[in-house]
Amino acid sequence: MSRSPRLFVISGPSGAGKGTLVSRVREGRPDLGLTVSATTRKPRPGEVPDVSYHFLSEDEFSRLVEEGAFLEWDGHFERRYGTLWSEVNACLDEGRSVILEIDVNGGFNVKSAMPDAVLIFIAPPSLAILEERLRKRGSETDEQIAKRLSRVSMEMESSSRYDEVIVNDDLESAVDELAALIDRYETDERTHAHVRD
Ligand code: ADP
Ligand code: 5GP
Repeated sequence: MSRSPRLFVISGPSGAGKGTLVSRVREGRPDLGLTVSATTRKPRPGEVPDVSYHFLSEDEFSRLVEEGAFLEWDGHFERRYGTLWSEVNACLDEGRSVILEIDVNGGFNVKSAMPDAVLIFIAPPSLAILEERLRKRGSETDEQIAKRLSRVSMEMESSSRYDEVIVNDDLESAVDELAALIDRYETDERTHAHVRD
């Protein structure tokens, strides 16, 4: 069966399990690329430049915007974040699918630029479970958790315009579901992605 490389956008509320699911699926599919975003925010402790993000100055980011180097970019909390074409093309040119882990607005911008992109939303089983996972992860302060939770209803509403929604309840089932979806879009030419209106 022929396999075509595809661009997959993975979005969902902070704590829904995007990072966990993507890294588990990539264990079985090391060929799947994952883009490193560019940002003008400062690195947090433990973050590795060019692995966590490409950390850029405001001027560097502006220059790349002018050069048309971004597939999409957006502002969050007075900082800019974006996906570089070079990151995406490095995979697609090698015939490998690529995953972008970005927010819903970024996802919609990608879909406008590349209608064949597949938008996959990772949803938590409930708000209570999401909050519990964020607290257990222990990577944010109470204030940062509150800020993330305040975005959840907007993000959940956007999920209706995504091509696919996976509820991350049982981890193993969700990993299998994501791997199967990626496989289906790569192998089935009839599954041309579309944004639902
Ligand atoms: P995101 O990348 O969406 O912010 P993470 O992948 O960091 O979320 O997951 C948030 C926390 O929830 C992590 O501590 C992770 O181990 C845990 N987690 C993820 N998926 C599940 C699941 N299905 N069941 C229980 N805990 C989970
Ligand atoms: P953080 O600063 O916590 O790492 O990320 C803040 C926000 O930026 C998150 O909502 C994250 O999804 C978003 N983000 C990270 N990378 C990108 C990107 O490349 N493009 C867009 N549009 N948003 C991004």
